[in-house]
Amino acid sequence: MVALIHETCQYGYMRHDDYSQAPPMRAPLLAEERDGFRFRGGCPAIDLPATLQARLKPAPRELLATPEDVRRWMVAAGLTDTAPPADEGDLALARRLREAIYDVAVHRHGGSGPPRGSLNSALAVLNQVAALPAAIPTLTLAGSTASVAFTGPMTAFIATVAREAVHLFGSGASIRQCQSPTCTLFFVDTSRAGDRRWCSMKGCGTKAKVAEFRRRKRESGG
Ligand SMILES: [Zn+2]
Repeated sequence: MVALIHETCQYGYMRHDDYSQAPPMRAPLLAEERDGFRFRGGCPAIDLPATLQARLKPAPRELLATPEDVRRWMVAAGLTDTAPPADEGDLALARRLREAIYDVAVHRHGGSGPPRGSLNSALAVLNQVAALPAAIPTLTLAGSTASVAFTGPMTAFIATVAREAVHLFGSGASIRQCQSPTCTLFFVDTSRAGDRRWCSMKGCGTKAKVAEFRRRKRESGG
C-alpha cells in the first residue's frame, strides 16, 4: 500500500507518494492531475490558477464551481486529508485569491495573459487574504517519515495558500509560464539549467514536440 506523506517543497507543502519501501527509488511527484485538478507548478499556490481551465478561450471551464470543489482542491493539493466544510463565502474568496495570484504572476512573470486587473489590485487582494488567520500546521514524525497536516476553518486554508503565494512571489524563485501558446499555466522552474519550458512534459511538452516533428516533415516534403 502506498503511504501518503506531506513533504515540504521549497515554498510550501506538497504531498508525494512514499516509495521509501523500495529504495533506491526516489519518490516521484504525485500525478500531475489529482481528483480532476492540475498540479503542474510545483507548489499549490502557483497551481491554484489552474482551476480556471482554458483561460484564453471565450468560455473558460470553472473547476471551482461549488464550495465542495474548494474542499476537494485542498485535499488534492495535499494540505489536508479531511478539509473542513466550505461555504459560498469560501468559494468566492478562493476564486478571488486565484485570480489575484494569476494576475500577479502575469504582471511579473508571464506573457500570454491577459490579467483581469492591475498589479496593485491583485497585490492588495493577495495581501488581504494572506493577512487572515492561517491554518495551524502540525508536525508528525514517525520513523523516517515526517508529515505536516493543517487544521482550521476553510478560510484559514485559503489564507495559508495566500501566504504561500506571498512567500513564493517574494522569494525570487524562477516563476515561468508554459510556452505553449494555448496554455497559461505557471510553474516554479527548479531545473538545474533554469530552462524548463513546459508546465508538463507529458502534456504541453509532448504536444509541442509532435507539432515540431510534423512541421519539419512538411518542410522536408516528407
Ligand atoms: Zn502548458
